[in-house]
Amino acid sequence: MATVSLKNLVKKYGSLEVVHAINLDVADREFVALVGPSGCGKSTTLRMIAGLEAISGGHIHIGDREVNNLPPRQRNISMVFQSYALYPHMTVAENMGFSLKIAGRSQDVIASAVADAAKTLGLEELLDRRPSQLSGGQRQRVAMGRAIVRHPDVFLFDEPLSNLDAKLRMQMRTEIKKLHAKVQSTVIYVTHDQVEAMTLADRIVIMRDGHIEQVGPPEEVFRRPATRFVAGFIGSPT
Ligand code: ADP
Ligand code: MG
Repeated sequence: MATVSLKNLVKKYGSLEVVHAINLDVADREFVALVGPSGCGKSTTLRMIAGLEAISGGHIHIGDREVNNLPPRQRNISMVFQSYALYPHMTVAENMGFSLKIAGRSQDVIASAVADAAKTLGLEELLDRRPSQLSGGQRQRVAMGRAIVRHPDVFLFDEPLSNLDAKLRMQMRTEIKKLHAKVQSTVIYVTHDQVEAMTLADRIVIMRDGHIEQVGPPEEVFRRPATRFVAGFIGSPT
């Protein structure tokens, strides 16, 4: 079970509070999108869940464990960033297997995990290439491949498509949907693009200035925006 639960989660930078005691329960295998304007606290929230940023207050549970003080490695999550951050000197296969290598897995285990992930993402023909020999979309697929080889309980995405052109972005949305259906993990997906959020997610979480304005399925938020801000952001008819 990979539920994710945030209870009164707070983040302060010095005396500046940027996330104000937010509460959110994500169900096992649910796809939730955190959406809101730039600077509203989406990445900070995601980075706290990942363990890349210390929390200033509250609790984070993943499954039945409180993970507040656990290092990222022990949280069984994988994060996919906007900057693909692939290692330029490694092949696609080496990039995808790297985290398993670091974790001390055997060559056989790594090879089979990489082959599985490559099949899922249609990367079989590209395993020997280096990142410089790939298109933007292919690089993004490798970044996802790197995340799925570890079979995480939870995937965290931070604006993974924002470096891609519009056409590719549409294509990758479909791929992310398929990937979610295939790997069946819980997903928390950050984007400032409300259309992307509405297309992908089971539920969307609208953030504004460090708090949550509304949570619900896309159609419901669209039809019954809780605030004027939500209506404006989502583009609901008024
Ligand atoms: P978003 O991802 O929604 O665009 P962020 O979570 O990156 O927003 O940022 C939320 C707020 O926290 C912003 O006001 C940002 O300036 C501030 N912030 C983010 N990181 C830091 C930091 N390391 N130090 C100080 N303030 C930060
Ligand atoms: Mg951000």
